[in-house]
Amino acid sequence: GRVPAAPTLDERALARSLSGVHLIDGALVPALSGRTFPVVNPATGEEVATAAEGDAADVDRAVAAAAVAQKAWAKVPARKRGELVGACARALLDHVEELGRLIALETGKALRTESRVEAQVLADIFAFYGGLGSELKGETVPFHPDVLLLTIREPLGVVGAIIPWNVPMLLMALKVAPALVAGNAVVVKSAEEAPLAVLRVCEILNRLLPPGLVNILSGFGPECGAPLVEHPKVRKVTFTGSVEVGRVVGQAAARKIIPVTLELGGKSPMIVFDDADLERTVAGAITSMRFTRQGQSCTAASRIYVHERIFDAFAAALAAKVDAMVMGDPLDERTDIGTIISRAQFEKVKAFIDEGLATPGATARACSALPTDPALAKGLFIRPHIFFGLPRTSRLVREEIFGPVTVLFPFRDWEAVLEEANDSDYGLAASVWTNNLKIGLRMAHALEAGLVQINQNLVVQANLSYGGIKSSGLGKEASLEAMLEHFMHKKTIMVNMA
Ligand code: ADP
Repeated sequence: GRVPAAPTLDERALARSLSGVHLIDGALVPALSGRTFPVVNPATGEEVATAAEGDAADVDRAVAAAAVAQKAWAKVPARKRGELVGACARALLDHVEELGRLIALETGKALRTESRVEAQVLADIFAFYGGLGSELKGETVPFHPDVLLLTIREPLGVVGAIIPWNVPMLLMALKVAPALVAGNAVVVKSAEEAPLAVLRVCEILNRLLPPGLVNILSGFGPECGAPLVEHPKVRKVTFTGSVEVGRVVGQAAARKIIPVTLELGGKSPMIVFDDADLERTVAGAITSMRFTRQGQSCTAASRIYVHERIFDAFAAALAAKVDAMVMGDPLDERTDIGTIISRAQFEKVKAFIDEGLATPGATARACSALPTDPALAKGLFIRPHIFFGLPRTSRLVREEIFGPVTVLFPFRDWEAVLEEANDSDYGLAASVWTNNLKIGLRMAHALEAGLVQINQNLVVQANLSYGGIKSSGLGKEASLEAMLEHFMHKKTIMVNMA
């Protein structure tokens, strides 16, 4: 093959070797149209590879291969399917360093704080689902003395998976691993900004799995993503991305009457009471805001409400801590913070910051420092910004920025802050920081979010059920539940014994 089979630490050579291809039916193939588009390193502006530009014809080809592979795969005992997915986890683990470097190259995410971690979580998700092959259980239901009523779980068929660029390997794993163990085949459409690492992941999976079971296409949303959603043989769609596109994908799924999972944006509140441990809370704000990833996280703590008694101390400690973070070359081990993904995203985040700075009464604290290395002069670096005094109606308070920007507000009483926290179209995540468990639990009950954490801000793990309410999405990812409820259907069988 053209791609090295063993892990390689030369991410640039690897990127070039992955140029211009999809992976369909076990083979690396160019787009039928022959078209490609550039893949750019956002830290330098250089083109590091090309990607195949998929369209409806490539979708057809991939879905046809997946449909054939799925028929055979569904007959493999579930436990055995799990074992194969577990073997994939071990193969991925062997490639952590390589995948970390590759994703750092194409996304600008710092290797030490973000990219390598993502590669580890990727393997962990496959390991988790690999162990669940025996758990695809149905039930018996007491119904009538003469009738035995059973339910069994069956795969859905070909799953279409559309992923974004912020944590593409992790989000691909949350879709592909449970879909496979459940007995489905998958066609993935990668994000145009980050097609390489997920292609390499797919290539590693294809060394162990039958051809056609996992296919990956690169290309743009309307030209390649939309035909995948609309393809008649695709029986389930799982999408992570923006609310706007999520709405389009959801509507297309509704027209076909197929199930859809939507993991969309967030504007997640973090609420800090005056009895919270200041140091741990500040560290939690930084983790949750994901400054290390330039804030490009759907669960980012992008609204922070702090009790007025500790507001100044918290703001100062947060700014000092972010100031001490090092922004620079994503592949350098000393770097804490990498780049924004793309020029378009860079301009969008800059526009939010400019609007905030121009708002009467608002102030901002810009933290950390731009890198001075001339090799990074074209890099898409933005200093983390902490805003104060914005009106609640500001776009910076209401809309998802997906950049290194958070807004701080003081509060006095818990009922008012609860109302403010819930005053959002989004409902993805929230956190409460207090040593008063009564208040913490009361808030956890009343906060409108799919995930509420008290005194911690852990990132997604394989075994927690993850997904938003309100405009943040539909359905759950991760956990056994997501596999059973969102990648299988339940068939009822009734046996008359009279
Ligand atoms: P982001 O803001 O993170 O880039 P998007 O929602 O724009 O999120 O993109 C997420 C994914 O959805 C990408 O893979 C993108 O190509 C894909 N996409 C964009 N438009 C469409 C569409 N009309 N149909 C299907 N997929 C789409």
